[in-house]
Amino acid sequence: IAVGHRVGHGGDRFSEATIITDEVKQVIEKFVPLAPLHNPPNLEGIAVAEEVFPNAKQVAVFDTAFHQSMPAEAYRYAIPDRLYQDNKLRAYGMHGTSHQYVSKQAERYLGLNKDSLNAITIHLGNGCSMAAIKNGKSIDTSMGLSPLPGLIMGTRSGDIDPAIIFYLANNLDMSVKEIDQLLNKESGLKGIAGNNDMRSIVSRVEQQDAQARLAIDMYCYRIKKFIGAYLAVIGKADALIFTAGVGENSPLVRQEACKGLEHLGIQLNAAKNQQKKSSIQEIQDTGSQLKILVVPTNEELSIAEQAYALIS
Ligand code: AMP
Repeated sequence: IAVGHRVGHGGDRFSEATIITDEVKQVIEKFVPLAPLHNPPNLEGIAVAEEVFPNAKQVAVFDTAFHQSMPAEAYRYAIPDRLYQDNKLRAYGMHGTSHQYVSKQAERYLGLNKDSLNAITIHLGNGCSMAAIKNGKSIDTSMGLSPLPGLIMGTRSGDIDPAIIFYLANNLDMSVKEIDQLLNKESGLKGIAGNNDMRSIVSRVEQQDAQARLAIDMYCYRIKKFIGAYLAVIGKADALIFTAGVGENSPLVRQEACKGLEHLGIQLNAAKNQQKKSSIQEIQDTGSQLKILVVPTNEELSIAEQAYALIS
């Protein structure tokens, strides 16, 4: 009866899921320059689903939608204003479905009223991003116009000095395409440790591999900096929420990311951090002011629920 599509970029047009019409497809097409790797295959998926399931409603769930609540001071870049007005260059953020899903799960788990959670959601998969959640809404996030900025990821660099791009072009004669490939596919954990699988990096750390240790240290230090920044913009927070492949499964990453944050009310319990559960898990110490939660994400379920809610 319905097909839910995860669509990469809804620009500033979509703040929630929508039934796909010709007009919606045109808008997804219009945002291709902002998401050249995601929107074209999403449109292809929609075309195929329409052919295979001609009687079903097609629903688009945008990865950017949840972050549409960000205020201008968070989403604007300090570049000439015309580039925002004419070309829509601004931060949109990604992984919205996951940040929304785990924050709503946590809100319910903590027994809070709807739209009252204040938290930091930390999605650590192959792609990684964090979001500052205030009153249940995203007010800032670490990805931007594209999924490239912010945290160190499997193969993406995360934040770098943009002048590195000029250096690569001017001194190493690299083309824009080659730089794009370098920063998106050959950087991050892979760039530092030669491998983007966190399981392998963790096991190399256990064998005292210096390059794997450096990769983990850089990865966790970046998360820690964003925790500090987001606590500053949220104010009093209820919880820190870890999710996705690494966030749900790596005690080492959670431990290193939380280390030294006791003065901010973040105190991890070492034994609880080691336990593995498939449901929501609390891993903070009794004295911790913030709850530290591991919340399994489920983007497929969330997309299905949003599609179902729309067609009913
Ligand atoms: P995702 O994109 O959410 O599927 O997450 C993929 C990432 O999760 C990869 O880097 C995996 O190495 C990582 N991952 C999965 N299981 C574990 C684990 N047990 N320990 C550390 N990292 C893991």
